[in-house]
Amino acid sequence: MSDCVFCKIAAGEIPAKVVYRDEGVIAIEDLNPQAPTHLLVMPVEHFATLRDVALAANRTDRLGATLIDVASRLGSEHGGDRGFRIVVNTGADGGQTVGHVHLHVLAGRAMSWPPG
Ligand code: AMP
Ligand code: ZN
Repeated sequence: MSDCVFCKIAAGEIPAKVVYRDEGVIAIEDLNPQAPTHLLVMPVEHFATLRDVALAANRTDRLGATLIDVASRLGSEHGGDRGFRIVVNTGADGGQTVGHVHLHVLAGRAMSWPPG
């Protein structure tokens, strides 16, 4: 999508610190980190929300599972035995501010619960 910041990052039109990339998935460092490790894992193709990824599951060959696999691999690399957190804010009530689905991977400190 032409006006989507994460599409532009995936296309290399906006700079970002890319920590992982394959043909379908990209992971970058969050611009405003909320933990010592704060990564964003997203599909290269534009999907607005996690729901849209799920609805396209037949066409995208289990993209949702791939995103979780990449996120948990990066979380394991950075969080080690201490663990990590994966968050997918979805829609207005979910606190989603960028309309290109992304998984937050947070590690490097103990997380609290419940979320705000
Ligand atoms: P969310 O509120 O769940 O949609 O998360 C959006 C995240 O994207 C926030 O944590 C922002 O800090 C992050 N973000 C926004 N723009 C950029 C950017 N250009 N590069 C890296 N992270 C970004
Ligand atoms: Zn996009």
